[in-house]
Amino acid sequence: MQERPELKLSGALDLAPALESHKVKVPEHCGHYIDGALRLGKPETYFSNLNPSTGMPLGTVAAADEEEVDQAVKAARAAFPGWSGLSGLERGKYLFRIARRMQERERDLAVVETIDNGKPIRETRDIDVPLAAGHFFYYAGWADKLEYASGGKPVRPLGVAGQIVPWNFPILMLAWKLAPALATGNTCVIKPAETTPLSAMLLAEILDEVGLPKGVVNIVNGPGTTGAAIVNHPDIDKISFTGSTPVGRMIMKSIAGSGKKATMELGGKSANIVFADAALDQAVEGVVTGIFMNQGHVCCAGSRLLVEESIKDEFLARLKRRILTLKIGDPLDKNTDIGAINSPKQFATVQRYIKLGVEEGGTLWQGAACDAPDEGFWVLPTLLTDVHPSDTVVREEIFGPVLSVLTFRTPDEAVQKANNSEYGLAAGVWSEKTSKLFSVAHRLNAGVIWVNGYNMFDPASPFGGMRHSGFGREGGVAGLWPYMEVVR
Ligand code: NAP
Ligand code: MG
Repeated sequence: MQERPELKLSGALDLAPALESHKVKVPEHCGHYIDGALRLGKPETYFSNLNPSTGMPLGTVAAADEEEVDQAVKAARAAFPGWSGLSGLERGKYLFRIARRMQERERDLAVVETIDNGKPIRETRDIDVPLAAGHFFYYAGWADKLEYASGGKPVRPLGVAGQIVPWNFPILMLAWKLAPALATGNTCVIKPAETTPLSAMLLAEILDEVGLPKGVVNIVNGPGTTGAAIVNHPDIDKISFTGSTPVGRMIMKSIAGSGKKATMELGGKSANIVFADAALDQAVEGVVTGIFMNQGHVCCAGSRLLVEESIKDEFLARLKRRILTLKIGDPLDKNTDIGAINSPKQFATVQRYIKLGVEEGGTLWQGAACDAPDEGFWVLPTLLTDVHPSDTVVREEIFGPVLSVLTFRTPDEAVQKANNSEYGLAAGVWSEKTSKLFSVAHRLNAGVIWVNGYNMFDPASPFGGMRHSGFGREGGVAGLWPYMEVVR
């Protein structure tokens, strides 16, 4: 018999890691992007940034102080006459270029976002990044049609916009804020959240690659103190904030009487109402998407399930069966459904609420298709049943994969319970009966209402809340209005 030749490797193969790997090189020391240039921060201000799915440090981030924020605002102010003086058509071309370059670099953006934030690559790849590019495409189309958006009246931009975003949708929130501001001719100083600076650094590269005039967009990294420096800067004309209701309230107090305009996209505790006549398997999918997408780190998460009493047992059985198919684990694995909780701080918050839910008398159920990894920050999809409308876990925003389950008997009771919240961001209604859908949706106090669906977003569709969920809209034609004023 012929001997088989021995297979010998001459040495270690030097293959670069596949892009979807925790070993990819990410920006290690995030500074700031001011006046068209990436800058180092002040050395003493750097703090650590984590990969929440491994718990390992990814690098460091600088915290911009008042002096650096002032430099960013001055750069934005200096760029304002040139940028607002361009024709809408020319501004639109820049937005188109940004959108296209984001598409070209979508894999980079998706991987970096997943590593920094912990959310599944399936979501960053298929939702966050395409939608972010979509917002630039959408507002590019509006840039030379602003008078149509204002009912035929001549409009002008407000000036320098100060914009502050949270960590749950880092690149998407940057796009939601920058695209309409730029289309209308404003210049921007924007702050990413302290735990998710990386995709903003890639965006700075993209802005550079498309030749956006310097100073039109300035990115300052840092924690809440950096945000406060933007809010309090005297030469800012408009604040656009997305984040928690308590911080939004603080910002409104500090700009009171300053003449600064504001848009507030705040928290929520949204109801997902399932009637007995709904297509139950579709409703189960909608409930899962509503609360477990992005680990429940979603302002409009359907975190209160209101299910008609007659189908409660059947519906919960189906829901649990579905939850037991959800894969929790490495967010870079394209099969993963549930990624990591974004930070140790948020992990502690979610755990505290789950404990409280049990102390308040709730029944805890947790499940998934597999165990969570040992390293990193993980919470299994969680249901809290036997809870009451007055319980803390039913009233307060948890911002994690925790669903409180309540029941109702009549459409009136469903509406009353859904509206029994200080928030008013979103709601979902599930029924086969269109007349019921309309009559219930019409009576819900929420900025966004989905029927037979949940967490569906489109750049052309306005998004925003009422009551303690804030005011102003992002997306759609309504998203232009907070960034321009009618010339009198
Ligand atoms: P957060 O603590 O309010 O932070 C939001 C942003 O504000 C971050 O960039 C934060 O900085 C910054 N910030 C903190 N203190 C500040 C201050 N005193 N002045 C100015 N800026 C300050 O909220 P979060 O925990 O990051 O995000 C989750 C919240 O956002 C949830 O309540 C969620 O519902 C809400 N959210 C709402 C929407 C919406 O469209 N309605 C969308 C997404 C999220 P650092 O984090 O860097 O310290
Ligand atoms: Mg991070």
